Amino acid sequence: MITQHTVPQIRHQVASWRAAGERVAFVPTMGALHAGHLSLVTLARQHADRVVASIFINPRQFAAGEDLDSYPRDLDRDRDMLERGGCDLLFAPNRQDIYPDGFQSEIHVGGPAQGLESDARPHFFTGVATVVVKLLNIVAPDCALFGEKDYQQLLVVRRVVQDLDLPIDILGGAIIREADGLAFSSRNAYLNAAARRHAAAFPRILHETRDALAQGADVAQSLHAARDALIAQGFTAVDYIALCDAHDLSALSCLDRPARLLGAVHLDGVRLIDNLSVMPEES
Ligand code: AMP
Repeated sequence: MITQHTVPQIRHQVASWRAAGERVAFVPTMGALHAGHLSLVTLARQHADRVVASIFINPRQFAAGEDLDSYPRDLDRDRDMLERGGCDLLFAPNRQDIYPDGFQSEIHVGGPAQGLESDARPHFFTGVATVVVKLLNIVAPDCALFGEKDYQQLLVVRRVVQDLDLPIDILGGAIIREADGLAFSSRNAYLNAAARRHAAAFPRILHETRDALAQGADVAQSLHAARDALIAQGFTAVDYIALCDAHDLSALSCLDRPARLLGAVHLDGVRLIDNLSVMPEES
């Protein structure tokens, strides 16, 4: 696996692959890699001849007081994991490579970027959209892969890529979970042992709620019950538990189309997000 740090290097390498007729897939990450990231690399291999991953902890998607400084960093370990996972090229830029002095632009997205994560983190999707468009323009792949773990982010990326006519296919990868059901996340490392055991109640309650909804339970009552169950299980706050249209994330008051149950909770000072697909009963 090649590791490159600068924009001209990566442009040159990807251009030479594409000139040779090879299809290139791209997996952007913030590092602290786990099985969820590696599943995207595996999926990328199925769609392309060459796989490029990036590791860049994007300061613009963190607000003051969030975990930018403490976000886990271990480039050597990440590099080994990517190499063993079948990645051909790691792009690991420095902050100056992405945001040189004088940088003044940002991308605001409406539609799927409204609500849910934005209510708790209003800065977040502007930071994400700005860096994703930059990375897509720098790497210039044929396709790019994003996890359904960050379902709202996946829809925001699809929206901005379509709106700005970027000639790149956006592919979603299924959520990869630990044995007890907790979705892999770099931020799970912040949980102490007791909180980590406790955290599995989050996906469990989401699954129970999903099953009730799929069997026709009332949406408002089910979401209310889920919120109560999370608080009863010791989650300190519930930012949202919502049932939304799977395509545009508009809130649903009845399950009459493919939907997504999405949640964000706090446990022991750590914020966790997760979501599940919910399909209406066949009529
Ligand atoms: P991050 O490093 O957290 O920015 O994530 C990089 C990519 O990995 C994003 O597209 C995430 O949605 C995806 N991802 C993170 N966790 C998981 C998971 N448990 N399963 C599948 N994809 C994931």
